[in-house]
Amino acid sequence: MIFMKNKKPIILTDLVRQQFLPFVRTPSRYIGGEVNQIKKDLNECALKFALCFPDVYEIGMSHTGMAIIYEVLNRQPKIAAERVFLPWLDAQQVMNEKHIPLYSLESKAAVRDFDIVGFSLTNELCYTSVLNALDLAGIPLRSKDRTEEDPIILGGAGMANCCEPVAPFFDMFLLGQAEEAVVELSNFLIENKNLTRKEILKSAAQKFPYIYVPSLYENSFPKIKDAVVEDLDNSIVPEKPIVPFTQAIHERISIEVMRGCPGRCSFCQASFCRRPVRFRKPQRILEIAKKAYATTGFDTIGLLSLSTADYPYLEETISLLNEYFQPRRVGISLPSLRVDVQLKLMPKLATSVRKSGLTIAVEAASERLRKIINKPITNENLFAAVEEAYKNGFENIKLYFMAGLPGETHEDIKAIVKLCYELAMLRKKVCGKTAGINAAVSWFVPKAHTPFGWQSQQSQQYFQQAKETILDEKKRLGARFLNFKFHHIQRSVLESAIGRGDRKIANVIENAYRGGTKFDLWDECFDFQIWLNAFEKAGLDLVQLAARKFEKNDTLPWEHLGGPEKDYLRKQLENTGAENL
Ligand code: SF4
Repeated sequence: MIFMKNKKPIILTDLVRQQFLPFVRTPSRYIGGEVNQIKKDLNECALKFALCFPDVYEIGMSHTGMAIIYEVLNRQPKIAAERVFLPWLDAQQVMNEKHIPLYSLESKAAVRDFDIVGFSLTNELCYTSVLNALDLAGIPLRSKDRTEEDPIILGGAGMANCCEPVAPFFDMFLLGQAEEAVVELSNFLIENKNLTRKEILKSAAQKFPYIYVPSLYENSFPKIKDAVVEDLDNSIVPEKPIVPFTQAIHERISIEVMRGCPGRCSFCQASFCRRPVRFRKPQRILEIAKKAYATTGFDTIGLLSLSTADYPYLEETISLLNEYFQPRRVGISLPSLRVDVQLKLMPKLATSVRKSGLTIAVEAASERLRKIINKPITNENLFAAVEEAYKNGFENIKLYFMAGLPGETHEDIKAIVKLCYELAMLRKKVCGKTAGINAAVSWFVPKAHTPFGWQSQQSQQYFQQAKETILDEKKRLGARFLNFKFHHIQRSVLESAIGRGDRKIANVIENAYRGGTKFDLWDECFDFQIWLNAFEKAGLDLVQLAARKFEKNDTLPWEHLGGPEKDYLRKQLENTGAENL
């Protein structure tokens, strides 16, 4: 049997129109055909590539990485890339009742008939939704059960660097930045279409250093390298972004100004895995923004990167964009900026950035703790930046904190409230009124490929206690102007256990899916009890796995999967002093 037989895909247009759309809520999620969609004749293309985002349309359509890969693949004349999102619960029920398989938005082609299905893996809690998508498509969940009739299932994006927990469900993973590598891989598949599935997987693993085929390894693993895009300036970007039918989370022109981050916060997986740091030039950004604006009419430009404050041409870029876009009433949106940069840019930001409030990722309230996590913010700079923001008319500040960090004390938790309080009162000095402070508190999750990846996670009880301490402190101060939002504790514990797990976790994930969970990132769907049962059934202890501290000489389940060298990370950990706290 050969892998790609040029089989004609089943097109479900009539079935979808007559038997599906009239019976679902929000049908606009499922119709495709938006402005700037790219639709090719699937039968004329040598490779049919389904890009699957394991969440609903609104979430997937806001994912910049998927939009880039869509553009990159569709620029290849021989390749057709189509989008697939996970239908919401009501739609899934209709699909099950009427035997409608998962289909792509562009051609309404059955996903199972594509040659390759690529999943964007962005979070540990999207894995049951991946299984859900495979199930809806009629594709066996495990790689070992697939035949020549099934597409190749590829995993990519951030979680590919710690993919052992889902290794049995995927035929291959592409590690690192995919926009050039995915074209190389696709051309390889086209050139080798007469090979069997097994042969394809084996030769792809041999040929490409960034391809990981889990079924080839059991006990010893080769070191897989991350694919890297050297020239960000000339890399392909969506110049004609698709304009979503249903309101997406971010409806804007998203332009990546820099890839990577020069910062080395000890908990930050993205920074350690996306290297080296590369910049896009201001003129190129303006050019992309103009083209995207002309083809979409979006009224906001988002300048994206892990840490836009470290983008060396930020001021110049804002000026350039302002010159062209301010008369057109198009605003600029920036992610959280480092305080010293906010201070410098404040006059410009105050006029060009929408005044929804400034965002600062402080992470820890005390300078001592910030030193341990390697986050170089001083209180002096923080207060100066916030004061400047108030002087420029900002009324609200958003702060991000993380609790449960290595070396944290009870006093550090209380200090979160104290810091918020003092920053709110600072506005009195400027205009006589207190500011509104929105503080988001997340719980420390030790992540693979970071210096803190060896560290233990605090217990659920600890996090619960920290939450109560914060709320009690707020009450004690009578500070109604402080608004705290807390990340979900149980999800954070699952992230730690799954994200640093090995292949044994796959049984847990399958148990959880078969036990009835999916869309775990949605509050209305998340069911912790199902997860507890799933761990128990697999004979694994969730609490122990989440709190696991790895020893110096332990083999880490992710150490073969790209990322920085282990010794380097270990040194970084030792430099923080967190090991001895
Ligand atoms: S947390 Fe932000 S500043 Fe720190 S390393 Fe990560 S991206 Fe950079």
